[in-house]
Amino acid sequence: MKLQKNISLQPFNTFGVDVKAHQYINVTNEVELLEVLKQFYTSELFILGGGSNMLLTQDITKTVLHINLKGISIISEDENRVLVKAAAGENWHDFVMYCLQHNYGGLENLSLIPGHVGTSPIQNIGAYGVELKDVMSYCEAVNRQTLATKTFYTKDCGFGYRDSVFKTKFKDDYIITAVVFELTTSNHQLHIDYGAIQHELTAQNKVSPSIQDVADAVVAIRKSKLPDPKEIGNSGSFFKNPIVKTSVLESIQDEYPDVPYYKICKDSVKIPAGWLIENTGLKGFRKGDAGIHTKQALVLVNYGDASGNEIKDIAELVKKEVKKKFDIVLYTEVNIF
Ligand SMILES: Cc1cc2nc3c(=O)[nH]c(=O)nc-3n(C[C@H](O)[C@H](O)[C@H](O)COP(=O)(O)OP(=O)(O)OC[C@H]3O[C@@H](n4cnc5c(N)ncnc54)[C@H](O)[C@@H]3O)c2cc1C
Repeated sequence: MKLQKNISLQPFNTFGVDVKAHQYINVTNEVELLEVLKQFYTSELFILGGGSNMLLTQDITKTVLHINLKGISIISEDENRVLVKAAAGENWHDFVMYCLQHNYGGLENLSLIPGHVGTSPIQNIGAYGVELKDVMSYCEAVNRQTLATKTFYTKDCGFGYRDSVFKTKFKDDYIITAVVFELTTSNHQLHIDYGAIQHELTAQNKVSPSIQDVADAVVAIRKSKLPDPKEIGNSGSFFKNPIVKTSVLESIQDEYPDVPYYKICKDSVKIPAGWLIENTGLKGFRKGDAGIHTKQALVLVNYGDASGNEIKDIAELVKKEVKKKFDIVLYTEVNIF
């Protein structure tokens, strides 16, 4: 276990914000992880995964603990199902590709999401009609105070829209060390009705698509819509899509009859935050190097040297304008530190 001092976190966050970690420790196995947890109180550590769901607005004075545990293993496999375990520090997209190479189905719609496997349960990552809760069997986590290992089955995780117990009841209590997925080995269930997947498959002439075809379609759509963090710093969707009462939707429909929405239950709907932001006229707004992406209003960007606070100011502006125009409060999906 090597403790480094005063290192830049710029390479470790997808916004590419240049803040410093006063102290930094990289752990690559559970023995090292437990050693660190024995030495530091919970309040002294800042946990870092792939850095793709955080906006850093200041130097981190806590010790940054970079979770880079590695390893993929098969727990059981038969002609229908496989249980695959991936350590927390595995790169999410690489793991999805590993599963596809082995003809394990279930993760294809979640292709190209940045970040680490271990972080995926925290906000129940989701895309194109599939969420982590649909494919996770259980995850393993270490209690940061007692150092005991606990298994969280899907039913224990309180999964919701970009939400779980790891963000609420057990916030900062656990470090997830591994996630176990239950995937198909035959008769794969494809989810191709969501968004533009079917359209993309048709364009590629895929009449009976395979799981790899679905993944390819998802990757193509995402590449055409979302900026690549390697080129323009960003953290994906900055805000959650707000869930509002049907009456709020109806009042918006008076002025915008075509407002898109998804029915959640009898009296509430989800409205795309990107649509709301676009209709405040802020899409493409830029101040210095911080801005709102020109093609995707839900994505805040760092064009180069923006500070975390400059990006945070843009987020505040977005929230203010959406509230003013639609009387809807936006909540961030990204963690701001
Ligand atoms: C271009 C782009 C597209 C994206 N698209 C999507 C999308 O389609 N769907 C979606 O759901 N998300 C999306 N995201 C958001 C992001 O990729 C996910 O939220 C991802 O799961 C974050 O993982 P990470 O390892 O980078 O987390 P980090 O940013 O490193 O950490 C996030 C939080 O988890 C904590 N944490 C990290 N590791 C652990 C651990 N092992 N145990 C406990 N706590 C931990 C951190 O302290 C922090 O609070 C996108 C992001 C980008 C940049």
